[in-house]
Amino acid sequence: MAKCEVCYRHCELSEGKRGFCGVRTVICTEDGGLKVYPLNYGKVTGVALDPIEKKPLARFMPGSRIISVGSYGCNLRCPFCQNYEISWSEGAYAFENEADYLSPEELANLALEYKNRGNVGVAFTYNEPLIGYEYVRDTARIVHEMGMVNVLVSNGMASIDVLNQIIPYIDAMNIDLKGFTDHYYTDVLQGNRAMVMDFIVEAVKHCHVELTTLIIPGENDSEKEMAQLSEWIASLKDNDGNIIGKEIPLHITRFFPRFHMTDRDATDVRVMQKLADIARQNLNYVYLGNV
Ligand code: SF4
Repeated sequence: MAKCEVCYRHCELSEGKRGFCGVRTVICTEDGGLKVYPLNYGKVTGVALDPIEKKPLARFMPGSRIISVGSYGCNLRCPFCQNYEISWSEGAYAFENEADYLSPEELANLALEYKNRGNVGVAFTYNEPLIGYEYVRDTARIVHEMGMVNVLVSNGMASIDVLNQIIPYIDAMNIDLKGFTDHYYTDVLQGNRAMVMDFIVEAVKHCHVELTTLIIPGENDSEKEMAQLSEWIASLKDNDGNIIGKEIPLHITRFFPRFHMTDRDATDVRVMQKLADIARQNLNYVYLGNV
C-alpha cells in the first residue's frame, strides 16, 4: 500500500487500485518499492488553440492564443460539471485506453509549431491537471526551455508540495474558488475548501493568478457570501507580505443546468450583476462570464 499525497483525501493505494480521482495508482519500481503514479500521464483527450481569454485569463498576455490540452479524471464531483465526459462520468476512465499519448516533448514541439499562429505556450486545462501534475511539470519545463509560457487552469485542490513541484514553470493560473462555505465544498462538490484556500494563498506569491466563481442558484449566490469571498481575496499578500489582493482578477460566471444539476434555472443575470457590484467594492478587476 502507498498513500497519495496530492490532495486532502490521502487515498491509500495498492497495485491495480485507483484513488478517488480515478487516475492515481501505485506501480512497482525497479528496486522493489512502490511509487504513486498517474495513469493519465500524457493521455490527451483534447487539444485546441484557444484565445487566452477563454481560460479565462483577462489580464495575462491579452489578445494571445494558447495551445490548450486536457486529459481525464478529477478529484471533485461537481454535479454541474461542464466537462463531465472527461472528468468524472462513468465513461471518463475509458479514456485510459482511448486517449492518444503525447509525450512532454511532443506537446512542447506542437506548441512551438503553432507559434507563428499566435501561440504563446501551453495551457493545462479541461479536466483537473494536478491529479497528473507530473505531466504538467515535465512538459512545462520543456515549454519554458523553448521560451514559451505555461498556464494552469485548476480547481486548486492540491497540496503545497504539488504546487512547489510545478510553480517554477507556471506563469499564470486560473484557480476556481467555487464558493465560500465549507458546506458547499464538502456536501455539494465533495471537496475541501481549506485546501483550495491554502493553495491560492501560496500561488499568488509566485505567479499571475486569476480566480473564478461559478454562481449556482440557491447554493453560493448570496450577497453575504460574495462579500466574504471578495474580502478574503482582497486580503491576499505577495511574497514580501504586501497586500496585493485587490489586483487579483475575479471571474464571476453564470450557471446553466447541466449533467446532474438540472433541477434549477440558469443564474439570473440581475443576480450576477448584483454580485459583481458587491465584489467590486473589494476588488479592482471583476468580470462576468457566460452572461
Ligand atoms: S489525487 Fe486522487 S488518488 Fe491522490 S489523494 Fe486525491 S483523489 Fe486520492
